[in-house]
Amino acid sequence: MMDVPAVVAGVLAGERRAVGRAISMVESLGDEGRAIVRALHPHAGRAERLGLTGAPGVGKSTLASALIRTLREEGRTIGVVSVDPTSPFTRGAVLGDRIRLTEHFLDRGVFIRSMATRGHAGGLAEATADAVLVLDAAGYDVVMVETVGAGQTEVEVGQLAETVVLVLMPGAGDAIQAIKAGLMEIPDVLVVNKADRPGADLMRAELEGALGLVSWEGWRPPIVATRAVDGEGIGDLAAAIARHRAHLVENGVLDARRRDGLARQLRSLALDRFGRRVDDALGAGFVEGLVDEVLSGRLDPASAVDEVVERADRPAGSG
Ligand code: GDP
Repeated sequence: MMDVPAVVAGVLAGERRAVGRAISMVESLGDEGRAIVRALHPHAGRAERLGLTGAPGVGKSTLASALIRTLREEGRTIGVVSVDPTSPFTRGAVLGDRIRLTEHFLDRGVFIRSMATRGHAGGLAEATADAVLVLDAAGYDVVMVETVGAGQTEVEVGQLAETVVLVLMPGAGDAIQAIKAGLMEIPDVLVVNKADRPGADLMRAELEGALGLVSWEGWRPPIVATRAVDGEGIGDLAAAIARHRAHLVENGVLDARRRDGLARQLRSLALDRFGRRVDDALGAGFVEGLVDEVLSGRLDPASAVDEVVERADRPAGSG
């Protein structure tokens, strides 16, 4: 525990090393991480939280890089939590991306952090929420969370961000179907990236059609066409994000939005933790034994579930 006060002080002073250290500590989901979060929480809540989501390959990272440049030109500082395991923030990117990112890495006003997929251990959603809190407390004006889209990870960006941007590219008909079917939460801003590709106009028209099926009161998500590779449309995107923010503030719904996100976050993180407890408690042998009993008719399925719940409820170490 010895480092916690020093790390907290460093984060509050905006020291990059301390910020990196704090995120590593919260990532390990241990007591130190808890202590960091507890100490930093009263200092968080000032950042604008922006979510960027979309399927792999649509250009999120390229777009994030371009957006960072625009925000920096406005004089704002940015913290980024990238949850996409395939992001060029971590993998060997094509040269152009690497040059752009190097530019940001050298910039003291930008902090980029990738969250490792935690695999079987779970806890990615919790670690991501904590990392956002650390960057917020460190004083970054904007905290951007980049995730692969809609149901593809355990991290629901809508719980963390006040403005959610969904990035699509021409030909991504699945996303439109998902929106129409109500399977996908409708974002605050829609981006058709790779607008240089054929089908961008059609995509836009289809999106308009899908949005036309909803009766909007208040904010209607705008559709912005971008070419992230050459920065075209990024100014429009930044403006759309700023308009959404202004809408939240002017209509007094920012607090409600935060409350709603937090309520969903608390519930889903609790479910996550409980799920991990069930997994820990079960072990393969226990389930197999129950399956045998159910199949042989000695036990009914509902009673088998009772046994699972009872076992998960038992405090660790009590057998
Ligand atoms: P991510 O997986 O969503 O983060 O996507 P990336 O940012 O890694 O981009 C995937 C590929 O699409 C890369 O090769 C980019 O250079 C390319 N790309 C990104 N934006 C555009 C664009 O506006 N037009 C075209 N043609 N390619 C783009």
